[in-house]
Amino acid sequence: MKIEYREGIKRLLYEYSDLLKEEIKDGSIWREKIECERLSKEDKECLLKDLCSQILVQGRSSRGVTTQIIDLEKTIQKWDIENFEGNLSNIGMSEKKKEKLRAIINYMKENSISSWIKELHKGGNSVPRMGPKSDDDFLKDHGFYEHVPIDRHTQRFLFRTGIIHWYLKKGVGSKEDILALFGINYEEKYKLFQRILVEFCKVFCDDVYAPSPKGELRLSENPGIIDIAIWRHCGEDIKHGCKNICGNIPKCDKCGFSETCLWKT
Ligand code: SF4
Repeated sequence: MKIEYREGIKRLLYEYSDLLKEEIKDGSIWREKIECERLSKEDKECLLKDLCSQILVQGRSSRGVTTQIIDLEKTIQKWDIENFEGNLSNIGMSEKKKEKLRAIINYMKENSISSWIKELHKGGNSVPRMGPKSDDDFLKDHGFYEHVPIDRHTQRFLFRTGIIHWYLKKGVGSKEDILALFGINYEEKYKLFQRILVEFCKVFCDDVYAPSPKGELRLSENPGIIDIAIWRHCGEDIKHGCKNICGNIPKCDKCGFSETCLWKT
């Protein structure tokens, strides 16, 4: 390898720095409002919609979710907890998804939206959850960058770049069996991919910072930030700034990570 991962990640982040800045700014505003319990009525509506979108997208692609949210709006009329709860039986979701929403809504009713998010962040056992990826996505989207969601783009990126090999070979994860990545237990697989990316950030991103309204955020402590760049680099959604460089067909000649990538070398 001509350069090491550290430099590759810096290049990647630099390439998406405008988007990172924008997203981290929004995320930090959300986090502050949630932690200080200063959510307006509109903020709460927005968070309920975000919660619903996460549940809707489970087990399928995100295509069409915006339309579904608009349709949902017609059914429930008002995005408040009581109204939402009253209409749960008419919202056209599977029983399993409704069950999850019901538990979360109950928790929010007994406590508050902010306390549900704060507990989710702390990782307490008593808090009702959406599922590993949805929880991480939701938290990351609202400024809790300690959480990093793992989607299929990230998995592909970790395979192609050799980061998985590094993790298993380095001894960091030597006790872990790579077969878990091909197993059928979704949660086990998800957690292993996540440990790999978190460890990668700890080792190679200790001197990598991203700007935020509250000062610089160190990537090794905020691995969720790397997801913002990886998704833009690998995803197809042009509307949201994705460049589809490490997508289905990798465009390695356009990739800032190519000098450190196992696929390319
Ligand atoms: S060099 Fe190619 S395979 Fe490697 S990260 Fe870039 S686009 Fe993906």
